Amino acid sequence: MKVTYLPSGTFRAAVEQEVAAYFDSVGGVRQGTWAIHLKTAIAATWLLLSYGLLVFVHTSTPTAVLLAISAGGAMAAIGFNVQHDGGHRSYSKRRSVNRLMAFSLDLLGGSSYFWNFKHNIAHHTYPNISGHDDDIYVGPLGRLSPNDRRYWFHRFQHIYMWPLYALLAVKWQLLDDFRFIIAPGIASTNVPRPPPLELALFWLGKVLFFGLAIGLPLMYLPPSRVLLIFLVSGATLGIVLGSVFQLAHCVKEADYACGPGASVPMDRDWATYQVESAANFGCNNRLLTWFVGGLNFQIEHHLFPQVCHTHYPKLSAIVERQCRTHGVRYTSHPTVRAALGSHYRWLRYLGQRDAIHAAA
Ligand SMILES: [Zn+2]
Repeated sequence: MKVTYLPSGTFRAAVEQEVAAYFDSVGGVRQGTWAIHLKTAIAATWLLLSYGLLVFVHTSTPTAVLLAISAGGAMAAIGFNVQHDGGHRSYSKRRSVNRLMAFSLDLLGGSSYFWNFKHNIAHHTYPNISGHDDDIYVGPLGRLSPNDRRYWFHRFQHIYMWPLYALLAVKWQLLDDFRFIIAPGIASTNVPRPPPLELALFWLGKVLFFGLAIGLPLMYLPPSRVLLIFLVSGATLGIVLGSVFQLAHCVKEADYACGPGASVPMDRDWATYQVESAANFGCNNRLLTWFVGGLNFQIEHHLFPQVCHTHYPKLSAIVERQCRTHGVRYTSHPTVRAALGSHYRWLRYLGQRDAIHAAA
């Protein structure tokens, strides 16, 4: 069923106007500048160093585990800071540069073609809406929305979900993309079969990823060590990606519009719902903001996905003030710890009650 937002009101016009005035005052460039190029160089160097030490230098098992954790962290940094902006076309003014940066996801084991539908359309158009936003569906094991069915074992999900986040990236690398290529379609989003060029890029990405993650290391290391590195770096990537998503959307304060068959059409306009279905966290933590590519400013990202993430800290004061003026709920957890606590309590609540509505 199609979700229809109410027509845009004064909030969206006011916030867009003030953000436009801000960009006019700083030269008008909404895409990335030298700052994102520097971040790209640092993240790529971080990954190459970790990978090179893992594969080409003989190390003890504990050292290899630490280096694999480092590699997983570097992969996450590339995903947040390079691929995500490229995929949103906010990395550069040039389309080819954005596509190249988006392709970095394929080197990390995920298809940038399917990501575009899963993230840009399914998630960004319908955040936290069951049946539409694929990111809030993790299979029957977890209940991440009050509009999804609750099973008896969900009452323990606030305990057992954490280690499952570790499997998110490996599941994507080994299963999800191959499922998509056999039967395209992500939640309610129609996904066309990849055209020839995209299909070639899909398989090129798979050859490069598995060649770099498995093939090349097997020439220098025993299979058990290659498996250890693959699983530890994948688990690190999964925990980091999963946590950032959950803290930005799966918290008690975020809203969950009902899915198909429920309150459709929506009771709000697009911009208001984008703000109220997301939450910021740790916005004063500059290291966190650097590492997660500004995704701790999730509200600003959802309102302005085609603005490079390096601008979000500057936009947040504008967005927060306009939200207050127009009575739009703006949630910002001061620390990661506060957001983790909110996610934990929300998981427990969803597991124990047939909650109807999140914002309580
Ligand atoms: Zn995004």
